[in-house]
This record gives sequence, C-alpha cells and structure tokens, in this order.
Amino acid sequence: MATPKNSKQTAPAEPAVPAEPAVPAEPAVPASIGNGFPGKLFSYAPAPESPAAAGDIASSYGHFIGGEFTESAGKEALKTVNPATEQVLAEFAQGTEEDVDRAVKAARDAFPGWAALPGSERAKYLFRIARIIQERSRELAVLESIDNGKPIRETRDVDLPLVAAHFFYYAGWADKLEYAGFGPSPRPLGVAAQVIPWNFPLLMLAWKIAPALATGNTVVLKPAETTPLTALRFAEIVRQAGLPKGVVNIVTGDGRTGAALTAHPDVAKVAFTGSTEVGRSIARSLAGSRKKLSLELGGKAANIVFDDAPIDQAVEGIVNGIFFNQGHVCCAGSRLLVQESVQDEVLDALKRRMATLRVGDPLDKNTDVGAINSAAQLARIRELSDIGEAEGAERWSPACELPSSGYWFAPTVFTGVSQAHRIAREEVFGPVLSVLTFRTPAEAVEKANNTPYGLSAGIWTEKGSRILWMASRLRAGVVWSNTFNKFDPTSPFGGYKESGYGREGGRHGLEAYLDV
Ligand code: NDP
Repeated sequence: MATPKNSKQTAPAEPAVPAEPAVPAEPAVPASIGNGFPGKLFSYAPAPESPAAAGDIASSYGHFIGGEFTESAGKEALKTVNPATEQVLAEFAQGTEEDVDRAVKAARDAFPGWAALPGSERAKYLFRIARIIQERSRELAVLESIDNGKPIRETRDVDLPLVAAHFFYYAGWADKLEYAGFGPSPRPLGVAAQVIPWNFPLLMLAWKIAPALATGNTVVLKPAETTPLTALRFAEIVRQAGLPKGVVNIVTGDGRTGAALTAHPDVAKVAFTGSTEVGRSIARSLAGSRKKLSLELGGKAANIVFDDAPIDQAVEGIVNGIFFNQGHVCCAGSRLLVQESVQDEVLDALKRRMATLRVGDPLDKNTDVGAINSAAQLARIRELSDIGEAEGAERWSPACELPSSGYWFAPTVFTGVSQAHRIAREEVFGPVLSVLTFRTPAEAVEKANNTPYGLSAGIWTEKGSRILWMASRLRAGVVWSNTFNKFDPTSPFGGYKESGYGREGGRHGLEAYLDV
C-alpha cells in the first residue's frame, strides 16, 4: 500500500526538531536552591503512563461500515504517527468514493429502524456507550495521547470525562425531544455526514455522534488523517454496546474522503469542525441542496485582563487559554488584551509562570505541553511566528529543552503586537500568544471584535457589572468570565462570522439534527 507524498503525516524537509530561539528566563529562584532547570524550584521524577495501556493497535485498519471492519475498495493507505516520537503507529485506509457510498448506504438502511425506536430505547444504547467509555477511559486516554501528542493529564482529566459526559447528557434528551422546544414531534433528518479535526479527536466525535443518535439520525463520520485511532477504537465500543448495524459508520482518509462524504447526495445533514477555508468550500458545495449544515470553524479569541483583576488567577487563565492542548484549540485565548496600567505586572507574572511549564513526553503525567500534532502544523506555527518577528513584534520563550525527536514548539509570547500583525489576525493554532494593550473598556471591546472570527472571549475583572457590559458587546459565541476554556455538555458552543454557524452542546445542539 502506498502513502501519498502530500500526507500531513510525512515530515517536511526541514528538521523535525525545532531550534526555536529560546530566550533564557530569569531564574525565579537562586541557582543554589534550583534543580538545574532555570526558573524551576522543584524537579519532578518522571511519572510515565504505560503505552501498553492503549491496548492493541493493529498494524492496519479498514473502515467500519455496517457494523463490521471492512477493506477499502481502493489500494491507497495512510500512516498515522506518534507526533512525540515520529514512530508509525498504524496504517489506515484512504476512503474512496465507493467506500463513502457503501457507508452512506449502510447508514441509510439503518435509519428507519433507528428513528422508529422509542427515545427511551435509543437512550439505553447511549447510556451503554457512555458507561463503556468510562470503563475504558484509561485505554482511550493513552491511545489519544499517543496518536495526538496531547498530554495524558489532559486526555485523562479533560477529554475523556467530557466524552462520557456528552453521551450521558444526550442519552438524557433522547426520550424528551417533544419537550425540547422544537415543536410537538420533531423528526430526525436521516444520514448525518460528520467530519472532525485532529485537536480533540474523541471529544469532537462525541460532540457530533451523541446528539445525532439521540435525535434518531444515523451517521458516517470521518476522523482527521493524523488522528484516526480513537475513532476506530470507538467503532469497537459501538459493537460492544450492541448498537444496531449501520447506525454508526467510520470512514477514514484525508480531505478527499471528507469532500466525497459531504457531497454525497443521500446525506441529509453535514456537521463539520475544522478550518474556515475548508468550511467555506463545504458551504459552497452544499449551496442549493436541501442538506442542513453546521460549521464550527476557527477563532482568534481575546482574553481581556482589566487592572482590577486578580492577577495571579488571570495569569493561570492566560496560560490555560493558550497553552492548553498546545494551543490547538479553536477557542484558544490567542490574543491577550491587557489594560495598559497592569501590563508590566501581568507580563512579568506570565513569564515566571511560563518558565515552570513542562514541555515533553505526552505520556508523562507531569507534562503540561505535549507534542505538536503534525509536521505540517509545526511548519505552520513556525512560519507564522517567524512572520510575527519579521513584522516587528518581540518574541519570548522560556528556556526549555525540547526532545530530540518528534514535533515540538516552545510556549511563546509576542509583545509589541499591533492589530495589523498577522499573528494578531490569523489562527496560529499553536502555543503562541500575542499581547496587545488597551486603556478603556470601549477600546477593549473594539480591539476584541476587530477580527474576522467570533468564537470565544474571556474577561478578567472583579466587577460583575463590567463583565455583563463587556459580554453584551463582544461578538463571540462563548464569553467566559474569570475563567477560560471551560466546557460542559449542557452548554451550547459555536460562533459568529467566520467562526461558523450552528450550535453544538446543550439543548441548542439538538436543533442541528432535527427537522424543526
Ligand atoms: P482542515 O479543515 O483541513 O481539517 C478538518 C477536517 O476536514 C479533517 O478531517 C480534514 O481531513 C477534513 N477535510 C479537509 N479537506 C476537506 C474537504 N475539502 N472537504 C471535507 N473535509 C475536508 O484543517 P487542517 O487539519 O488542515 O488544519 C489547518 C488549520 O485549520 C489549522 O492550522 C487551524 O488553524 C485550523 N483548524 C481549526 C480547527 C478548529 O477546531 N476550528 C480544527 C483543525 C484545524 P484531513 O485531516 O485528512 O485533512
């Protein structure tokens, strides 16, 4: 089986180990009581999670169609690698139009039976899936870390609990759809085509599959080409839960497979999360069809810190906003807007905190920042960061040793950034923070809204009235106050402007899958 040359899995010509210009941090403690790592008071012994906990990873995978793992009609295969080591984990099939057609047919055949089940029966399957996910959460967390590069601390404590929570939550809705506010007998749409990205592979799967099944739709899902393994493991869970054949189908492959799936004429609903560019092309291809579309696209969120904010808490929020999941987060707080009067205080505290971040082995339970998901994404982060410097912003990273193989990028902050700089306008999708300042709340609103995106924002202040004043003026789907990157299945999530349309999560998330 051949691997295409343009695959995102393939390392670019430049060396995989970044040689970022790391500016040494001021040691936060005298060297005499330090541990050899600049700026760190304590050293932590490694606390590695066992890769064996991920269970057996097959050497090659086909698609999951009609309740069975099947061979692809084509001969092409892709490889998924561990981004922390560049080791190949498995091969998987590049879905062809014929594969997509088979999967859609399986979903269409399963639809009448699934839609006709009483909601309370569908709920039982969803509860069962949720419980199996909880039972197998260690296995799934380790597998996700290996395939994605994100720290085990995040997969274990954030992704997996949220995945299970989404299935539990939507299981609860399945027999209450008449009371959800969408009319007395809301009907499912049919086959849902779902295309997801690589930043939260299993969580995005849950955001898509749980509401679709609760409302009586059947699905064909395509995971991202760099992170197919947890979706394929989820297929096993679907079988373990005894879900009727064809209700969930997983077809792997790259963007060509995604395009074939979203364009398939028998699909009634398309749900996409990913880049604005691809979202736009899907919207164009669906124009004039009867397909219902929801798009969850990019973001360039402002995290706004006022001078009355509790600075230490705000700094934690800034760090969580941009360095969580290596900054591969559509709602990441990638623009820090700090009130001019506290700029120095905030930046000093932020740099001190950044010097304590541990970058490295995603399977080490002490790791804060893991590997960049792919060589292609690393190249993009480097390129935009270099452009930031060339445009005149000042770049700073703490001294940190990056592993010698794999894809890595040191946590980075840019100061002296202006609104026109590309790092302030474009989604870097990496651990890179741009800092801008403001003097008045009105200026903060103006600058925060000065972006083509509108997905999220954060406000740090002790004044409740100011939070409400700001929140009502920020053009963002989600506004956090005195916290950041908090997710809950009961809460709708989605954007304005180029961040897309439609909502996922909460009661609102049902609407995307109902004929209302
Ligand atoms: P994409 O938008 O290309 O990928 C998202 C998903 O869409 C993947 O499953 C992808 O497959 C698939 N896809 C690609 N092309 C098509 C198509 N024409 N029709 C249907 N599906 C398609 O994002 P990238 O992975 O290329 O990342 C590029 C940039 O996008 C990032 O740097 C980041 O800025 C942004 N992004 C935003 C995300 C968000 O959550 N808002 C998530 C991911 C990326 P495949 O993986 O094989 O390409």
